[in-house]
Amino acid sequence: MIRHVDIAVRQVIRKILHLSAGLSNEFFHLPAKEGGLEFPVLQELVGLAKVKLYRNIALQNDVFLRNIVEMQGSGMNERYLNHLKLGWQPTADDLRSRKDCLLKEKRTAYIQKVHSTGHEVFSTCALTNTWLLNGQRSMKTRMYINAIKLRTNSYETQVTTTRGLDVDKTCRKCHQADESLMHVLQCCESTKGPRYTRHHHVCSRVTMKLAEAGYTVYTEKSLPDPNNTGHLLRPDIIAVRAGQAIVLDVSCVYETSGAAFLNAYNRKVQKYKPLIPAIKEKYDCGQVEVHGLIIGSRGSYHHAQLHIWHNIGFTANDLKFLAINCMENSVRVAAFFGQSIRSSWT
Ligand SMILES: [Zn+2]
Repeated sequence: MIRHVDIAVRQVIRKILHLSAGLSNEFFHLPAKEGGLEFPVLQELVGLAKVKLYRNIALQNDVFLRNIVEMQGSGMNERYLNHLKLGWQPTADDLRSRKDCLLKEKRTAYIQKVHSTGHEVFSTCALTNTWLLNGQRSMKTRMYINAIKLRTNSYETQVTTTRGLDVDKTCRKCHQADESLMHVLQCCESTKGPRYTRHHHVCSRVTMKLAEAGYTVYTEKSLPDPNNTGHLLRPDIIAVRAGQAIVLDVSCVYETSGAAFLNAYNRKVQKYKPLIPAIKEKYDCGQVEVHGLIIGSRGSYHHAQLHIWHNIGFTANDLKFLAINCMENSVRVAAFFGQSIRSSWT
């Protein structure tokens, strides 16, 4: 019976959030800090509570109470024990480890689904997931719903709406690749404009932070590429303070895996490192650091790169809002793409 309540709850959430029937159940139940919606599985919650209660009563010396529970509740206790795959008379440790195991089973099931793309990144950087629980308060409803669709890789594109079907999935705008969410948010020529806006907003926030910290900030300064005569390199930001300079270049990546962040960072550093001698000379600096500032288009950071953001003055709270803003701008990129498809039909 209670299993049906769980199904009904998921159906209602799907309906309210306009999520597809195929979206993995695990997303609804994983902890918010891991990127889920944290709705309890009632069958498990109630089952564990009942078994625990039954066990506690059985351990007491009250013979009368024990007899009542054994007469009236043993069948129910047995059903819950079977469902939870627990042996007869489980210990407190058995109950704890079963609870942990149920969570692990959900994680394992989720990472095998297409909706979990990026889960490795989201689940290891809790500050990027707080909006899942309280975003309804700070985000407009439509934005919240679309952000969830981005997070679960289920925003409507040719690829997501025809999963499992042998049909043409080529991008309806550029015809250069499959119309996946990643293509729309990161690569499609047709979304270049709103993608630039998304990138520019992150750069502006970084510039403000550095200025607040007393840096003199130069944006998009062109410098000759020492390894490529006749070509220029133009990092997003060069910040100078007290004889030290930081060269920063922002990149917005799609969260396919943690490696996407690490590779993007290394590419940025390799690209701009050759500028160090020229920057030392131009800005009279003894020390120059080069970093990539990598942010996920679906509102995340790589946990191992958070210190770079903190070192330039971003607090955890600042980072939460910056990530949400980046994700909202990605929703705008996707919406812009959708509108341009519709307008090309008319
Ligand atoms: Zn395209």
